[in-house]
Amino acid sequence: MKLPLENIQSLIRCPVCNKKYRSTKMLVIDEDDKRTTLHMSCEGCSASTIVFVSMGQFGVVTLGTLTDLEQSEARRVFQGEAVTADNVIEAHQFLKHYEGGVEAFIQ
Ligand SMILES: [Zn+2]
Repeated sequence: MKLPLENIQSLIRCPVCNKKYRSTKMLVIDEDDKRTTLHMSCEGCSASTIVFVSMGQFGVVTLGTLTDLEQSEARRVFQGEAVTADNVIEAHQFLKHYEGGVEAFIQ
């Protein structure tokens, strides 16, 4: 969905400090016919947000969520492959038979 960023900008404020976002701190990380996904960093408090913008029945709808992902990380996550059911089963099987401590995953 192609929307000029300046139009979206007036709709979106930082959920932490309520400051308006500047377009220089916005990055489009995913875009298709129905939805645009933006990563935004607040100049006021440095909080980062991922915002989904879509065209609903009554106009533009935005949904934001706080994130600790940096812009480059967010882009990588959104452009990566989706987790499949097989991935989930593999992880479940692995953990079911795993007998070590959690420390091994942190290193
Ligand atoms: Zn803020």
